[in-house]
Amino acid sequence: MIAPPTLLHANDIAHWDDTADVLVVGYGIAGACAALEARRNGADVLVIERASGGGGASALSAGIFYLGGGTDVQRKVGYEDTAEDMFRFLMASTRAPDAHIVRRFCDDCVGHFEWLEAQGVPFERSYYADKAVIAPTSACLASTGNEKLWPYAEVAQPVPRGHKVAKVGDGGGALAMNALIARCEEEGVRVCVDSRVTALVHDEARRIVGLRVRESDGERHLRARRAVVLAAGGFGMNGELMRHYAPELPETAEALGTPHNDGAALMLGLSAGAATQAMGGTIATASFYPPAQLIKGILVNKRGERFVAEDAYHGRTAEFIAEQPDATAWLIVDAEIFAYPELGHPLVDGWETVVEMESGLGLPEGSLQRTLAEYNAAAASGEDTLYRKHADWLKPLDVGPYAAFDVSYSSNVYRFLTLGGLVTNVDAEVLDDHGHAIPGFFAAGACVSSIPQDGKGYASGLSLGPGSYFGRVAGRNAAACTRND
Ligand SMILES: Cc1cc2nc3c(=O)[nH]c(=O)nc-3n(C[C@H](O)[C@H](O)[C@H](O)COP(=O)(O)OP(=O)(O)OC[C@H]3O[C@@H](n4cnc5c(N)ncnc54)[C@H](O)[C@@H]3O)c2cc1C
Repeated sequence: MIAPPTLLHANDIAHWDDTADVLVVGYGIAGACAALEARRNGADVLVIERASGGGGASALSAGIFYLGGGTDVQRKVGYEDTAEDMFRFLMASTRAPDAHIVRRFCDDCVGHFEWLEAQGVPFERSYYADKAVIAPTSACLASTGNEKLWPYAEVAQPVPRGHKVAKVGDGGGALAMNALIARCEEEGVRVCVDSRVTALVHDEARRIVGLRVRESDGERHLRARRAVVLAAGGFGMNGELMRHYAPELPETAEALGTPHNDGAALMLGLSAGAATQAMGGTIATASFYPPAQLIKGILVNKRGERFVAEDAYHGRTAEFIAEQPDATAWLIVDAEIFAYPELGHPLVDGWETVVEMESGLGLPEGSLQRTLAEYNAAAASGEDTLYRKHADWLKPLDVGPYAAFDVSYSSNVYRFLTLGGLVTNVDAEVLDDHGHAIPGFFAAGACVSSIPQDGKGYASGLSLGPGSYFGRVAGRNAAACTRND
């Protein structure tokens, strides 16, 4: 595995090339939010960005923020939500949640939504009711997770919490980043681009007090009077780190993001003794819907067996597919619900009978016949006792001819984000292996393992939502650190 960079000692830095109260590494959503809050809390802030401008993966994103607890959008379109319901849902759906982090995020969500709008991030008061990965309109609110799925719907009142920036279809992330970067510029945040952070500097008290950066004309050392905030994104683009930390993700999956999401923040954190968690956690997706009618089909593996409720969030389904033998599965439909998946999953074939389909897919004799007979009986009774798929999506698959789409990893491009990273606490402080905060060191965004930790518990918006919120927390707390003159 790649070794972390050397942690430099302040005594070995002969000359500091620049100084700021707070140094922020990375100018995506977490970094921009950290910089703004640090600045507004009286700090001189310098953002270091490796690319030639701000944005990062955040600017490539669809701009869906997972927010709730009764935001103005939720109320205006007729949904009642509470911080308590949101908390219960996230606690139930997150793999190993930190209750303090989840609680703080849920309690502050309404205010955080208002803050985002006040920075100029636009959201409509509108609702998108259909099933989609990204709503094809500029509508704001949509169900983007597993809230309606069993068992979560029994734990908390299911309400939609995906808030999409007001942009038709994809691309809202760029609007959000334009607004946040404009605020940073107006308010005097200093930004240094084309500058790559290559090492952290600490002092005898283990406090992080500076950075080494590499630029086109050589190396420079930057001093932080108060603190350093790491916000340099995830590590999906680093094949070596992926093979080390997430070997269970099929190799055909492709990373989403910019080439700079290469794990630099993770390695910098490790150099300072930071703890990590959920390192194998990813959200991968190649959704077989839309169109939504396909959710009425069933997914089967090489044994001809179902393995997930087909109405699950597409990232949850993807993780279950990855766990099946050879990460192979098929979507089975009948003539009544036949449609081509928008993403273009390959159609294997059509067959007049289930027996022919079973043999055409090479499934064990009798397996698909049995699975479909059991499923059809359950669907006719209105209750899927096996996986508790919601009654809205149940219909016997008994109108031939039948068809199968290949949803295997090897036949489709599954795209993923990493969810593992540095361990932080509710104050966005970076923790070491003993759970102690490393002084002067904060982190937020995709370089930390925060609320979402795996694809089974992910909901669209759970990166930008907590990433922007805890970016602000990091910036505020970094500015409040004692000056280290
Ligand atoms: C296509 C796509 C769609 C998505 N849609 C959504 C969505 O709708 N909702 C959602 O919640 N999430 C979405 N995500 C995920 C989400 O965008 C990211 O998880 C989130 O933006 C990460 O924010 P960040 O600030 O941590 O990192 P980034 O936005 O990646 O910012 C990190 C910055 O750090 C810089 N950097 C890296 N290394 C260094 C270094 N050594 N020195 C200096 N700078 C460095 C990078 O250049 C980058 O600008 C999507 C992602 C993609 C790619």
